[in-house]
Amino acid sequence: MPISVAIVGSGPSGFYVAEALIKSGADVAIDIIERLPTPFGLIRGGVAPDHQSTKRVTRAYERSALTECVRYYGNVELNRDISIEELRNTYDAIVLATGMPGDAKLGIPGDDKKGVIGSATFVGWYNGHPDFKDLDPCLNTANVVVIGNGNVAIDIARVLVKTPEEMVEADLPKGVAEAIQNAPVTDVYMVGRRGPVEAKFTNVELREMGHLANARAVIDPSDLPDSVTGDWSDRDRRLRERNLETLKEFVAAPQAEKPKAVHFTFFAKPVEILGGDRVEGIRLEKTRVANGRAEGTGEFFDIACGLVIPAIGYALQPLAGVPMDEERGTIRNTDGRIAEGLYTAGWAKRGPTGVIGTNKPDGVAAAEAILQDIKEGMKPGRPAFEALLKSRDIRWVSYADWQLINEAEVANAAPGSPREKFVTTEDMLDLLAN
Ligand SMILES: Cc1cc2nc3c(=O)[nH]c(=O)nc-3n(C[C@H](O)[C@H](O)[C@H](O)COP(=O)(O)OP(=O)(O)OC[C@H]3O[C@@H](n4cnc5c(N)ncnc54)[C@H](O)[C@@H]3O)c2cc1C
Repeated sequence: MPISVAIVGSGPSGFYVAEALIKSGADVAIDIIERLPTPFGLIRGGVAPDHQSTKRVTRAYERSALTECVRYYGNVELNRDISIEELRNTYDAIVLATGMPGDAKLGIPGDDKKGVIGSATFVGWYNGHPDFKDLDPCLNTANVVVIGNGNVAIDIARVLVKTPEEMVEADLPKGVAEAIQNAPVTDVYMVGRRGPVEAKFTNVELREMGHLANARAVIDPSDLPDSVTGDWSDRDRRLRERNLETLKEFVAAPQAEKPKAVHFTFFAKPVEILGGDRVEGIRLEKTRVANGRAEGTGEFFDIACGLVIPAIGYALQPLAGVPMDEERGTIRNTDGRIAEGLYTAGWAKRGPTGVIGTNKPDGVAAAEAILQDIKEGMKPGRPAFEALLKSRDIRWVSYADWQLINEAEVANAAPGSPREKFVTTEDMLDLLAN
């Protein structure tokens, strides 16, 4: 009997586990269980809608999904439709590759006001994730403050200031595109506690900010040091030197004629969200960096704004029956092992770090651990799982179903755009019913 493996989560890490198991040549039956009808996790719901080339990685995942020993079960949620205990009774091995879907809290006074929207929520909204379709994005404001100095912050700033022409090849849902284009937003402030040298942007993303049709990159030249100092690896130093060079180029070539601006606001930490029930501004404290850490200087300033988007990290939503590592905010695990027959990979295992490819070694490690620990299939696997779903009247979405959804999305696309996304599970299930 094949070793039955359930992979919960169809993001990159889930698919890399599947790929490694397939490549091992072992006798396995792999079921990928996903709470949304649509596969690919943050590739669909996180990666920026105007960076379609990054999303092409899903072609490799599709090859795994279409392999004989693999089945996809979309629209099935762990702890809504099936419990961890039931999965453990059904499969020889279970891999939790559920990512980190929640927003980390800002943790300052006023952070619960209307108009503070975490990046997971805001990005989910503009990427058509069904969980966020009803979000009021609070875009009726000239100024938006994005907190964070990583690529997610840059993605958000860029999506907010690009012109419709620049977004033609993106896959923003129609309603979202209209909301952004009709918004009076002119200035996006990207706030970082530390300086340009410590910022985590990759250089390609940073350089793009100097080539936007309608928006200029604004930097206070006094924030830019002459050179990169500090204790960095050679690789990190090179990246930081490139970023510093790029920021200096922005300063040297100001583009005053452009009506919108993205302000790189370094050396500032948020201390309070201002306003009544709704955000009316943010109070920041100027900082200096000592030994790599930001220290407050006691000097404060305010930015008036109607929307604050913290892009400062993610949080795991605890899964019933699964131990949490409170300190790291991940599932408690030792090199991917949680308990007998239970494994984890990707962001759920190690936290929200790295790029898509960083999840690949995790997938390989989980597959190796499974094949070390389990020599033969003992549990009933797929037939028992399907029987359970049927007994609960759960309409799962197969990979062939997803291909139909995909075809319909592609067929509905506006000229230039790769797809018009369905943003509700009901619409996808209706399509399949008809
Ligand atoms: C906004 C944003 C932009 C990014 N852009 C880039 C980029 O341009 N380039 C790059 O290299 N990396 C990028 N990344 C990083 C990359 O997306 C991650 O490294 C990767 O997606 C993590 O993979 P994962 O499988 O661990 O998690 P995820 O991709 O989050 O996948 C987890 C999956 O599990 C499912 N799931 C969760 N709970 C359950 C449950 N209870 N039952 C069933 N299914 C469940 C989710 O629906 C999801 O499909 C970006 C990340 C973010 C947040």
